[in-house]
Amino acid sequence: RIGTAALAVQVVGSNWPKPHYTLLVTGLCRFQILQLLKEKPYPVAEVEQLDRLEQFTNQHKSEEELGELSEQFYKYAVQLVEMLDMSVPAVAKLRRLLDNLPREALPDILTSIIRTSNQEKLQILDAVRLEERFKMTIPLLVRQIEGLKLLQKTRKPKQDDDKRVVAIRPNRRINHIPSTTEDEEEEEDHDDVVMLEKKIRTSSMSEQALKVCLKEIKRLKKMPQSMPEYALTRNYLELMVELPWNKSTKDRLEIRAARILLDNDHYAMEKLKKRVLEYLAVRQLKNNLKGPILCFVGPPGVGKTSVGRSIAKTLGREFHRIALGGVCDQSDIRGHRRTYVGSMPGRIINGLKTVGVNNPVFLLDEVDKLGKSLQGDPAAALLEVLDPEQNHSFTDHYLNVAFDLSQVLFIATANTTATIPPALLDRMEIIQVPGYTQEEKIEIAHRHLIPKQLEQHGLTPQQIQIPQATTLDIITRYTREAGVRSLDRKLGAICRAVAVKVAEGQHKETKPDRAEVAEGEDCKEQVTEDMKTESISDTADLALPPEMPILIDFHALKDILGPPMYEMEVSERLSQPGVAIGLAWTPLGGEIMFVEASRMDGEGQLTLTGQLGDVMKESAHLAISWLRSNAKRYQLTNASGSFDLLDNTDIHLHFPAGAVTKDGPSAGVTIVTCLASLFSGRLVCSDVAMTGEITLRGLVLPVGGIKDKVLAAHRGGLKRVIIPQRNEKDLEEIAVNVRQDMTFVLASCLDEVLNAAFDGGFAVKPRAERLNSKL
Ligand code: ADP
Repeated sequence: RIGTAALAVQVVGSNWPKPHYTLLVTGLCRFQILQLLKEKPYPVAEVEQLDRLEQFTNQHKSEEELGELSEQFYKYAVQLVEMLDMSVPAVAKLRRLLDNLPREALPDILTSIIRTSNQEKLQILDAVRLEERFKMTIPLLVRQIEGLKLLQKTRKPKQDDDKRVVAIRPNRRINHIPSTTEDEEEEEDHDDVVMLEKKIRTSSMSEQALKVCLKEIKRLKKMPQSMPEYALTRNYLELMVELPWNKSTKDRLEIRAARILLDNDHYAMEKLKKRVLEYLAVRQLKNNLKGPILCFVGPPGVGKTSVGRSIAKTLGREFHRIALGGVCDQSDIRGHRRTYVGSMPGRIINGLKTVGVNNPVFLLDEVDKLGKSLQGDPAAALLEVLDPEQNHSFTDHYLNVAFDLSQVLFIATANTTATIPPALLDRMEIIQVPGYTQEEKIEIAHRHLIPKQLEQHGLTPQQIQIPQATTLDIITRYTREAGVRSLDRKLGAICRAVAVKVAEGQHKETKPDRAEVAEGEDCKEQVTEDMKTESISDTADLALPPEMPILIDFHALKDILGPPMYEMEVSERLSQPGVAIGLAWTPLGGEIMFVEASRMDGEGQLTLTGQLGDVMKESAHLAISWLRSNAKRYQLTNASGSFDLLDNTDIHLHFPAGAVTKDGPSAGVTIVTCLASLFSGRLVCSDVAMTGEITLRGLVLPVGGIKDKVLAAHRGGLKRVIIPQRNEKDLEEIAVNVRQDMTFVLASCLDEVLNAAFDGGFAVKPRAERLNSKL
């Protein structure tokens, strides 16, 4: 309850790099709190002044014992000050102060100068009686003198340094009496620096790094704390100590266990799992990491990231994901130089610090979305990281010393290889991860997604039941994707809705559960149906088990997720000539694409809309040229009956969705079919989709992404797919059940395509005519 009254003289400080203020006060006297008046927003109390300045001079002169004590104290004080380096101005000033100040004031001043704990300082402050104060301070003085003597003995050669260190400290305090907390902080800081040095010396960092760190710590010791650079240097050193220079986890790799783990975590994706196992097997046999870097390429939500996580688990390694999407500054990878304000290490070094070991699995997510800007090319910085020949001495700009990355296992993921810089692509082994079939999605949902969602929402299978038919409904009518991410979200939405019901405890009370969930505000059509169950429940309620699972049927689904988002609208759109269905590949998986054509009076111009790339535009020109040259053969005419299709006619081709950029040659056959339908006035079969590149001579050339495209056609409910003959081998990759559901037409020329696309074939004019003319 005793404190020091003081006068604030100056407040200095800054908010950067962290708030740090120094308060300069002049101490006046001790006081005692009599009564606390209020505590907030700042304490206000009634106090009583304890020592008065005139006391020093008058009162104690007569008391002999005190005179002796103060004399003794003065001697020790002089002895202490004389042990310091008198050439330092602050020390000389202190020496003068000893003579000029009243003796009674000395204990307070010297206690604040010498090395004492906070506790001791508080004791001196509490000692209101002067005699007591002298008695308590003398042992502290003696202790300091002994300490100094010892120091001088043991470190003779560095004598000057010691003096300076001790001398600097008094210097700061002579003009003000620091508040206890600041003092404590300072002491702590000093201790921290010593600790830091110790940590640096004991850490297992490389020789080069150790040298740099020792140099930095030497600078740190001489730096005043208020300097912004102090914090920077300290952060740097702390990072250096924290980095796992030599710390690693032990690999526990057992191929059989790995296979089981991968199978347990992921359904389907056989090709990917096979390749990953091969990779791991090689690692087991040859304990060397200089293999290729695996890069999983596929649409979103097909499990690329989660396979990466499983690999880390099988190896018993730490896992860290580095999202590279949108990174356009090479400092993100390589760090900023320490001269920059706000500099920090790059993501690689940060990741290592986070995981705390030097052999984690790093997943470089979305490498295809790396940007480029004025701040350099992050892909180029990644080259060094990923090159096994170079990455043992990866130098982050912030660290400025090499760090060995050769133990890190890098795995990359991407949606497409098209935007990965070739040099980077060259260092990676691409593994394609195609989308899933509906059946695979159902299995994934029931084996993995639903149990995971139930757990996340605190539900049990006893509370909710989602039959397979419902899952299929969600997949076909509420999602249209190659992966399972939005399926997962929809399941999450269902779980949330059920969680509310369960938490409300309603379903226990009156109605059976199906009516419960479906009991929506606007679900009228099921009301009559539910009336029956409801009436049963009225009587049978008591007989029901207390908790029945809530069954998610179609009505419940509609109630929770709203009306279906996708309907099978394919046949509707093919109700007039001039429309055909193509199959496109996008980074998000395969998609079906309606190609529309119309003709009008004009001057033979072709208009193309739908954000087409150059290749696609050329395909359109090719298609028209081929049709014009074969118009007679197929009896195709323009509106006025002429075989010259463009005579007085303009053609407009449109590719929805209009806002998405499209390119590639694979729409060739679709454009031909679409135009053939337009000029012949016949409808294209509503369940046919097609893909293939065309040539001027009417040949059909192979294209890529067949598996994704076929899956998209399957999702869209199409039954027949026309693909180039030379793509036959790709069909093997497609799941048997999908293959059984569909028929595939292998076409090597456009005649075959047109024959398969129209009901009853696309008649070619009998050749007899030509024979006639020959005769
Ligand atoms: P990506 O990285 O390919 O975009 P994620 O790895 O994030 O996709 O996968 C999204 C979700 O789908 C994850 O929760 C994952 O567990 C799940 N998932 C994807 N494929 C499978 C699969 N074959 N088996 C089980 N779960 C899967």
